[in-house]
Amino acid sequence: MRRRRRGVDSVTAARLDDIRADVESCRRCGLCATRTNAVPGSGGRDADIMLVGEAPGRSEDARGEPFVGAAGTRLAGALARAGLARGDVYITNVVKCRPPDNRVPTAEERQQCSEYLQAEIEAVNPRIICILGNTAFGSILGGSEITKNRGKTASMNGRMYFVTIHPAATIYNQELRGTFDADIQSVVRIAAEIRSGKVITPDISY
Ligand code: SF4
Repeated sequence: MRRRRRGVDSVTAARLDDIRADVESCRRCGLCATRTNAVPGSGGRDADIMLVGEAPGRSEDARGEPFVGAAGTRLAGALARAGLARGDVYITNVVKCRPPDNRVPTAEERQQCSEYLQAEIEAVNPRIICILGNTAFGSILGGSEITKNRGKTASMNGRMYFVTIHPAATIYNQELRGTFDADIQSVVRIAAEIRSGKVITPDISY
């Protein structure tokens, strides 16, 4: 199943180029001192679905692209099984530079970087934002207990979200592969329903 494209207008393209340039030169928090490359979001600039993870890891830091390591392979596989290519979605992280030793980014780092994610959301204007993992869940919606809340839709400030686990979790726990695949298929289906005009009642409202 290939998605219809909305088309990227020049304002959106220019805005995303500006965000990328700002992220690549950003020195707002201490993570700039240890990164190899800042990692702005990438993918379909008119995507219906935006996926948001925690932070870049080693492979992402080396290449300056999000989700290109083992977790990215898991994510790309789940997307493919749901009928989408990477370029059909926009992929980004809460924090754009790798925390040393892949530690969880601090509240201050997340706060300092939040403006970039908000700018990406406003520019791409996806129909639904898929939150990947507990750190993104807490940062974006103030949520917690990802295993209890995964598979649910949520709304905040007029935007629709879908909550699932981080694909890295499926590397360490193979039993979660099916769960993650099913969640990605759900978010693809919900995005299609929104596109067709169906009103979705969220499971959680903030
Ligand atoms: S993590 Fe975000 S706020 Fe911190 S230096 Fe990188 S781009 Fe800037």
